[in-house]
Amino acid sequence: SVPYGAAPADAAPVFSLEFFPPRDAAAQDRLVRSAQQLHGLRPHFASVTFGAGGSTRDGTMLAVDILQKLGYQVAPHLSCIGSTKESLREILAAYRQAGIRRLVALRGDMPSGMGDMGELRYARDLVDFVRRETGDWFHIEVAAYPEMHPQASGPDADLEHFVEKMRAGANSAITQYFFNADAYFDFVDRATAKGVLAPIVPGIMPITNYTQLARFSDMCGAEIPRWIKLRLASYGDDKASLRAFGHDVVAGLCQDLLDGGAPGLHFYTMNQAEATLAIWKEVGPPPTR
Ligand code: FAD
Repeated sequence: SVPYGAAPADAAPVFSLEFFPPRDAAAQDRLVRSAQQLHGLRPHFASVTFGAGGSTRDGTMLAVDILQKLGYQVAPHLSCIGSTKESLREILAAYRQAGIRRLVALRGDMPSGMGDMGELRYARDLVDFVRRETGDWFHIEVAAYPEMHPQASGPDADLEHFVEKMRAGANSAITQYFFNADAYFDFVDRATAKGVLAPIVPGIMPITNYTQLARFSDMCGAEIPRWIKLRLASYGDDKASLRAFGHDVVAGLCQDLLDGGAPGLHFYTMNQAEATLAIWKEVGPPPTR
């Protein structure tokens, strides 16, 4: 039997990176520098996030262009909430024109109080739309939540909705980040039992800043285990110790995931190279240039 995923047992793990669109010229310089530093790792692809309602449409396209010019295979994220079918169609056409062959299809999160929810309600509807519009042109990734999406009515309902996205035509999935490897393996087992054989790649969040991590984790429903939280909080302003501990925790998690059969790793780089580079060098394929 194939452990944790669809790919044949001898398929090489897929290692990828995630960036976000820069807001200004200084942020753009940081993105370019980080992407240059990380390029030597030869990731399978780099993804670029997309703000709900198309709020970062131009920024996402700019970042896609920057990364393509640096030699990356790029997978733009596309979210449907707050967008019309027409605007999604235009974006898909622009990506096809640019030779993009992979997308991360999401529902997205509408900022509270922002009006129109758009014409497609769930990521499943977007996957279905992209398949109808563009056939098999794109490899479609979707999001998975080993610790449950925070708005789901329960773990079984959330799993069922994940399975629906895969059935609608997604090729593989990337998870929300997590620090409990057991939650990932449990999710993959439950998805496999429902017939999902496609790769479900763990999303990895390097730990570099406790306040920011705690805020993100509250928002997205990722649990920071108590022992990790206590250690991180204890470092206060001692950034070097925090980073060293964070590195050990996340590199250890990555190794456990790969040893347990995870079909790759997707790094949330936060547009910073150092932490991802250090983890990759410990657990990833060797850089080739
Ligand atoms: P869905 O799969 O549509 O699920 C959303 C919620 O609806 C879940 O609770 C699900 O259980 C429920 N649901 C689904 N179908 C149904 C149904 N038929 N009936 C009732 N309930 C249903 N956000 C961005 O804005 N931009 C990004 O670039 C971005 N990138 C991301 C990348 C990854 C790898 C991940 C894990 C998340 C990313 N997000 C991004 C966040 C994501 O948009 C949010 O988590 C969002 O709330 C859900 O998106 P989804 O695609 O998982 O939604």
